Amino acid sequence: MTARRASDRTYLDWNATAPLHPAAREAMLAALDVTGNPSSPHGEGRRARALVEGARERIGACLGVPARQVLFTSGATEAANWVLTPSAASARRTAPLAALLVGATEHPCVRDGHRFAPACVDTLPVDRDGRVDVASVADAVARLSDRHGPGSVMLAVQSANNETGVLQPIVELAAAVAPHRAILVCDAVQSVGRMPGLPRADIVVLSAHKLGGPKGVGAAVFGDDLSPEPLLKGGGQEKRQRSGTENVAAIAGFAAALEAATAAIGACAERAGRLQAAIETGLAALSPDAFVFGAGAPRLPNTTCFAVPDIPAETALIALDLAGVAVSSGSACSSGKVAASSVLAAMGYQAGIARGALRVSTGPDTTDADVEVFLGAWRDFIHRRAERAVA
Ligand code: PLP
Repeated sequence: MTARRASDRTYLDWNATAPLHPAAREAMLAALDVTGNPSSPHGEGRRARALVEGARERIGACLGVPARQVLFTSGATEAANWVLTPSAASARRTAPLAALLVGATEHPCVRDGHRFAPACVDTLPVDRDGRVDVASVADAVARLSDRHGPGSVMLAVQSANNETGVLQPIVELAAAVAPHRAILVCDAVQSVGRMPGLPRADIVVLSAHKLGGPKGVGAAVFGDDLSPEPLLKGGGQEKRQRSGTENVAAIAGFAAALEAATAAIGACAERAGRLQAAIETGLAALSPDAFVFGAGAPRLPNTTCFAVPDIPAETALIALDLAGVAVSSGSACSSGKVAASSVLAAMGYQAGIARGALRVSTGPDTTDADVEVFLGAWRDFIHRRAERAVA
């Protein structure tokens, strides 16, 4: 547990990235010493190939899918850019895909990363808690399928939101769109390794660094009847779908991290739920007007996204950072530039309250003491603000 603590800081930004799991580090160090190119036929190459294929098998086993359905990428961003293409071939249809429906709170790699023409893309609205409405999605898919034919629609809905932790009803969505043979793409970056199983979608997009693996490796998982147009062409690696010499060490680290996360999933979820309750109860006691986004929806147990009126996220973030606590304002990918969150805007929040949004996200190594440090730092921060307001 403590092996992942780099310092005496309190790291509560696991949705941005998780500290490297010791098992992943070990697997990567061992793999770095393997010389061969996995495509080479000699002994060195075969050793590297065995690492890649062994990792594929182990990842498939953790996810409950055949290893051949796991194709490695440089991360979820690349996987999303790759699979969300109108020229994806599918046994379900003979013409190019005609329409893409994208959840309003999707990560930018999905919202902006697809390769459909703007005129073919529609946004699926979410309610105040950040959930898409299954019946409305089914209607939209039915209308488009009537117009363009069965199997002509692709839709992209994430399993869990990175900013709020809100879970989407993927099982119900998959059942609702199946009669139209629509292709459901699910960004499962924030749920895999934290919740049991793989979302039941046609294509699932994954990233290693959210679950204790290294940054810069991920995967797309898809059925045998689907084949997106390659994004990277060249040597024909990954079933000719994703050319480029495999990142052997990162792939080995990915497999080790996913195995470790999968083995601990039950205990971690229970513990995360307890910490989430402590964080939200503590915040409510210290700041009675604190508001938790998505509180009315099922959420990841490790995520609390909250705002307190008149407290800008940037000010709070800096104060917490100086107190040794790392949290996030808005999504990690947009932190550094302070902009109101598009996720919260899609949920109907005005820029004023959305600008105060802070995300606290925990992981398997987070302790009760970490939560106490966070709440103590928050208490000191709001007391200092109150004193300044009086002075
Ligand atoms: N999807 C979600 C929900 C994420 O949280 C992230 C990372 O922030 C990504 C996709 C992008 O993943 P990667 O960093 O592997 O490109």
